[in-house]
Amino acid sequence: MTGIIADTAAAAWFEGIPCPLLLVALDDGRLVYANRCARERLPGAPALRPDPAALARGLAQLAAQGAAAAVVELPTAAGAPLSAALGAQVVEVDGQRCAVLAVAGTDLPPAADGRHDPLPWRAVFDKAGVGIALLDLDGRFLEVNQRWRELFGLGPKELGALTPAELVADADPSRPDDAPLGALLRGEIDQCRSERCYQRRDGVAFWGDLSLSLLRDAAGAPAAVVGFLLDITPRKQAEQRLNEINARLEAQLLENHKLQAQLSDLALRDPLTGLFNRRYLEETLPRELARSLREGAPLSLVMMDIDHFKRLNDRHGHQAGDQVMKELARVLLKFMRSEDIACRFGGDEFVAILPGAPLRVAVQRAEEWRAAFRSLKVPCHGAELRCALSMGVAEFPRHGTRGDQLLSCADQALYRAKRSGRDRVVVGS
Ligand code: GH3
Ligand code: MG
Repeated sequence: MTGIIADTAAAAWFEGIPCPLLLVALDDGRLVYANRCARERLPGAPALRPDPAALARGLAQLAAQGAAAAVVELPTAAGAPLSAALGAQVVEVDGQRCAVLAVAGTDLPPAADGRHDPLPWRAVFDKAGVGIALLDLDGRFLEVNQRWRELFGLGPKELGALTPAELVADADPSRPDDAPLGALLRGEIDQCRSERCYQRRDGVAFWGDLSLSLLRDAAGAPAAVVGFLLDITPRKQAEQRLNEINARLEAQLLENHKLQAQLSDLALRDPLTGLFNRRYLEETLPRELARSLREGAPLSLVMMDIDHFKRLNDRHGHQAGDQVMKELARVLLKFMRSEDIACRFGGDEFVAILPGAPLRVAVQRAEEWRAAFRSLKVPCHGAELRCALSMGVAEFPRHGTRGDQLLSCADQALYRAKRSGRDRVVVGS
């Protein structure tokens, strides 16, 4: 019976496999060979005749397709039939087409040494789509499966000389850290997981998700470590692309905010002097008045107009006039407090809001500005231009509770300042 393959190279392999293997001739269903495991664990094997109809169907399928699987009842020496799953493949033995039947069944009699049949686990280990490695307690590779070898392009011997940390690529952004593996090997933790950039032998980097689990012996002492490695490069690349897009979007958003701020600033400022414009004044004055009302605090408003500015323009040119207005803005900003608001109202007219300042204080401050502006000597074509300011002051709520009332009151006071000789401060009435 065993003579047919006794001389072939496959014989030793067939004999040594720790799973019952049967060789059945495809033409007549004759049992050609049973390996040692089958002879030990299926005492009925020599006379093995699985359900003839099922076997005939299985063999026909095998002959046609080259593979089959079936559940059949196998007789045993003990008498009770054994339900077994047959996985089969076709081989040629001495020119004869035979089916190799691998018998697996939960109710198979145990092997002589009492261990479970390791073949299915071996197959899982070898064929798994995830890299699997077994490490000893020094963190060295004991065994790696095919997928693990493929991932790194390294053979078992080369891997045997390495630890998992040594497989991490130089370009890995996280600092290689052996601490979790060390804790695992000492039995302090039972599992750890990391996402790292690894390097293949050919230099190509890939991202791996590595889960390490400690295997303990029956007494609970650390025995080995099993690692599962998944190639997560596509996911990492997608994440990286998303991060880059997000960073670009954030930068763009920041730039947009800046531009928006610049634009709104431009919309609220007078380009010549850099002071706030009339629009800003009209938005701000009601807000400041509401606050003063709420807090019971005073607020004063100063309206000012450059004296004989038209004449200055006519004599020295528009640019000289512009320069004088810029100087006036500088004086106002220099002498004002941070809470004060200076605006160019239009033409050579300016308005200052002084939150918290009562009339008396506002008049004092207006006098300071007037004197400072009066003492300015603006250089122009070798000459020094001197100018003066007329001012009208109004106080909330004495001269009005609304912005237009205060502006009108200050404007009338300014008019009186002009009428009474200019270069002076006049209080509203
Ligand atoms: P008054 O003392 O009565 O105020 O006399 P004034 O000549 O200053 O008269 P008014 O205030 O009416 O004249 C304003 C002048 O301001 C008229 C215009 O030529 C000038 N002006 C308005 N805007 C600008 C500007 O942006 N630049 C310059 N250089 N001049 C301006
Ligand atoms: Mg003027």
